[in-house]
Amino acid sequence: MERKSKLYEGKAKILYETDDPTVLLQQFKDDATAFNGKKKGTIANKGYVNNQISAHLYRYLASYFIPTHFLDVISDTEMTVTNLQMIPVEVVVRNIAAGSLLKRSDHKEGDVLPAPLLEYFLKDDAKNDPQITREDILEHELCSEEDLETLSRMALKINAVMKSFWQRRNIKLVDFKLEFGKNKDGKVILGDEISPDTCRFWDATTDEKMDKDRFRQDLGQVEETYENMRRRVFMEDVFESE
Ligand code: ADP
Ligand code: UDP
Repeated sequence: MERKSKLYEGKAKILYETDDPTVLLQQFKDDATAFNGKKKGTIANKGYVNNQISAHLYRYLASYFIPTHFLDVISDTEMTVTNLQMIPVEVVVRNIAAGSLLKRSDHKEGDVLPAPLLEYFLKDDAKNDPQITREDILEHELCSEEDLETLSRMALKINAVMKSFWQRRNIKLVDFKLEFGKNKDGKVILGDEISPDTCRFWDATTDEKMDKDRFRQDLGQVEETYENMRRRVFMEDVFESE
């Protein structure tokens, strides 16, 4: 698979065209941003860790018949993916109250929500990714009603599958963000990444934060935590060594 011109460089990843128009090369960077780009830094080895974790999780989700863009890992920090027409909506699923939900509700951090909560945010850095409703999505024709139904069901199924995956690794899946797109046949596919950059993970025994909140909140041990999460994904023996 030959890497051609750069299609897009975002905050955490670079997308390249390849010799096949239906396939892109997705490269994961060590760059980290938070608070919509206001805080910037690097997390050593993050590109490697997020590539490994995302690839494994996408393979795992595919085994549950969730269509994902993942095709192949081609280097430490690169994977090939299906070229998608992205739907400009960030879909957030929450199991436990944290992050921006605390500002928009009476919940305290750590409150277990009575049922998984599905939220939608417009993917638009210039507008600070505002929260939007299902009605907004349809009114602005960000996707069809059928696609909205499909991606919402997929998000809840991904949550169910991921929750038990992480439970077995002694991790609480607090919340996470997904992005979907459509392939050339018009099918809704899970794109982007699933990693400690896009999920909140808490150690199930100690409630210690095991994700990008360590960078956002300057909690220290950022690189070590990303590596710990990589090892947990692969069920390597991390529990005794802690
Ligand atoms: P951001 O755009 O938020 O800075 P990234 O650095 O993660 O984010 O950039 C990755 C970009 O690639 C995102 O805009 C995402 O929507 C887009 N993307 C993810 N998967 C695909 C795909 N399979 N096809 C096309 N675009 C994708
Ligand atoms: N998230 C993300 N990208 C974003 C915004 C949020 O990956 O641009 C993830 C974030 O890591 C968390 C979940 O989505 O796991 C919910 O984020 P929240 O709305 O609480 O916003 P935050 O306080 O993280 O900005």
